[in-house]
Amino acid sequence: MRLGIFSDVHSNLEALKVALKFFDDIEVTHYLFLGDLIGYGANPNECVQLVKELRCVGVAGNHDFGVLKKTPLDEFNPAAARAILWTQQQLNEETKLYLDSLELTTRFDPCFLVHSVPSAPKSWEYIFTLKEAIYEFNFFAARVCLIGHTHCPFAIVKTPENTFTPIKQTEFTIENTNRYLINVGSVGQPRDGDPRACVAVFDNKTNKFFFQRLNYDVTTAQKKILTAGLPPYLALRLAQGR
Ligand code: ZN
Repeated sequence: MRLGIFSDVHSNLEALKVALKFFDDIEVTHYLFLGDLIGYGANPNECVQLVKELRCVGVAGNHDFGVLKKTPLDEFNPAAARAILWTQQQLNEETKLYLDSLELTTRFDPCFLVHSVPSAPKSWEYIFTLKEAIYEFNFFAARVCLIGHTHCPFAIVKTPENTFTPIKQTEFTIENTNRYLINVGSVGQPRDGDPRACVAVFDNKTNKFFFQRLNYDVTTAQKKILTAGLPPYLALRLAQGR
């Protein structure tokens, strides 16, 4: 199996299409996603439709929950809340049903999937520090825990000797004896200073895992956000990767 893994699409159709083209080119066999299909961008229905067609294994993010009113609007910052209200007006029934079918966590061996944190998936807490990441290893049993949410990719390995080390390489081997916490970054709104879409691939035959950055048409995605009347800041940040 070769797994195509992605997160935080945030209604960015231009970025999603490039990500899916890449997965297709390298002959991915299964798709995993870590939540937040919608929010921020201008093409919620189109993005959800594309992902639905992939027969992904996926989980819900806070924006998916927000748009369905499963997470209260006051838990979002003003720009995010405005995007959620806008998205609520756009969603067709099919999109709503699909988003509503997503659970907070799921498994696809050897991976455990959750949008935010394994310790409290519906709290929508963020993992920013190594200390926070180490704590989370207590709350999943799988060899690999895949997350999204911060839009900043990272990978941390735990050895049988209880050492925890951030992995600097963008390509590495998933060792059978170790455990991993991996944030796969964001397709539609990267925040690590690199505006290119971020995806990940895990081949469970070779045990190779790698992150891939992909250029996409940022300008078109920005124009659509502005035309839709969404907060201009949401367009601006796409070019900055912030
Ligand atoms: Zn997100």
